[in-house]
Amino acid sequence: MKPLFDLGVLPVRHRTGRGFKPHVSLIFNAGKRLTFAIDTTNSHSPQPDAYLITHAHSDHNGRSAMLSARAVCSVETARALEILYGKKYAGRTFRIGETIDIDGVEVKTYSTHHTIGSCAFYWQNEVGTRILVTGDVKDAKDLPACDCLVTEANYGDYEDPGCHFEDDIGSFKEIVEEEPDDLAFGAYAFGKAQRAVSLLRDSGYSGKIGMDPISLALTQGLMENTGPLVDLESNCGIRITTPAQIPSLKVSKKFILTGRRDYKFPTINISDHMDVNGLINMVHKCAPGAVITYHPGGHRPLKLATYLNKKGIYAKALQQINTVIDI
Ligand SMILES: [Zn+2]
Repeated sequence: MKPLFDLGVLPVRHRTGRGFKPHVSLIFNAGKRLTFAIDTTNSHSPQPDAYLITHAHSDHNGRSAMLSARAVCSVETARALEILYGKKYAGRTFRIGETIDIDGVEVKTYSTHHTIGSCAFYWQNEVGTRILVTGDVKDAKDLPACDCLVTEANYGDYEDPGCHFEDDIGSFKEIVEEEPDDLAFGAYAFGKAQRAVSLLRDSGYSGKIGMDPISLALTQGLMENTGPLVDLESNCGIRITTPAQIPSLKVSKKFILTGRRDYKFPTINISDHMDVNGLINMVHKCAPGAVITYHPGGHRPLKLATYLNKKGIYAKALQQINTVIDI
């Protein structure tokens, strides 16, 4: 059985002199032959017809793709990339939920609730295959049904206990209620830090929140109704900074907001991702005939694809894709 061939979707891996990159492009026909690169760097030759950037996390390569006029991403992702990298975004933007025309293809966009501006892309090829590319996903509630699903596997290993979790919003709120005067949270500057600000305000905390410069710039640049935000040195009850900066912070209570289990500090399970059950539920909901797991590097895409195959769903991890372009 060759479901991807029958669906008219050719996924392609990228290789340089140093080996395979964790990148995928999709080649398909829609009136003409088109190539959409998914979360790749812009070092292609020949150039694809579009660089789809699902969101601004560094491992999705917007830093490089943003410099191409063929880049396509949400308004918020473009703004986040400009704040993160200090360069002008050269591509085109859209508001999530809009349908855009890329080389004659109607591409629909859907929120994935992973970071501000994160979104999935959906289009049909000329044999009617519905293609959905998600990037990273926190909540699949807005995603449509499709025939070919290209998705992530950050927590895709069903056998790994670390891939089974739920957000512990209850603990987060309790800690904020108990210690609102001398508390710090470790959170990545883009994504988690903004989630933390939202959670603090939802918890009823209305005081000043101190943030490191990058987190502060991203939060002020991307969010509305943040309440008072200040720098880390200012007088404030609660601080948010990167996990790397947490050890040196002179604050009595410190927690890292993460689903990971390899930190020395106490953690609160707040993730920007779904766990493996969420990923599997997303696949059932979207009901594709074929799944491609393309992200992140490492073994989890293969673990998820293998699990799905055992459950009777055709799936391939990026590393099982045999078509290769040298870039
Ligand atoms: Zn991400």
